[in-house]
Amino acid sequence: MNESVEALILSQSDYRDHDVLIRVMTQEYGILGFIAAGARKMTSKNAGSILPYTKAEIQFDYKEGKTLFRLKTARTRELWRSMHEDLGRSSAAAVAAELCLGMADESGASTREEYRYLDTAFRKINEGMNPVTVLALYMSDLMKLFGIEPDVDECVRCGETTVHAISVKDGGFLCAQHAEEAGVHPSSVTELRRFRLLVKGGLDQIEIIEKAGGAKPSDLEILAEMLKLHAGLELRSFAFFKRFCAIE
Ligand SMILES: [Zn+2]
Repeated sequence: MNESVEALILSQSDYRDHDVLIRVMTQEYGILGFIAAGARKMTSKNAGSILPYTKAEIQFDYKEGKTLFRLKTARTRELWRSMHEDLGRSSAAAVAAELCLGMADESGASTREEYRYLDTAFRKINEGMNPVTVLALYMSDLMKLFGIEPDVDECVRCGETTVHAISVKDGGFLCAQHAEEAGVHPSSVTELRRFRLLVKGGLDQIEIIEKAGGAKPSDLEILAEMLKLHAGLELRSFAFFKRFCAIE
């Protein structure tokens, strides 16, 4: 049946002959793959409308149970031009897209939320918001959606509410005693408060959070480490992005 969906384009790769394979996020079906026939030819009418980190309206024949389809036509809905013209911002978009691909819910129960988060992340990066804050809040939103957000209300190990450190391994805050036992470097009160705000907040509160100082590269690094350890998600694009915000 002929169907039209709004899709956030996550990746593009060469396929057979002159074809291109794209992977997209949709509200209705989650992640889908499309083969754009002849998209590598100069004469292709779809080639300009399937660029990664843009939003397109895609027409195709939907069949239940399938996740790979032949693309009929694609039309750009959002180009997010300033995101693409800046290398720092476009590398942040690559991280966001990879996060979406890696965290996508197979059951499809929350695809609407996942779509909305990524759509918001792209829009905020394009608007010139600090990409470090955008990515930190996007990670925070996804972690909450999948129930793996860090515990930032008390010591993960004993429940003590006076906390001293953030432990990637424990997935949250530790009290002084347990931080020492675990050999985790203590954080300042400012760092702990800022991290808590990022975990409790989300992209919907980005304006307020950015006004309060936003995220620092070290916060993003901790969240990425937690995703790697607790969700098995290794972000290949993260190293490239880090070069642009001087995370060391
Ligand atoms: Zn403790």
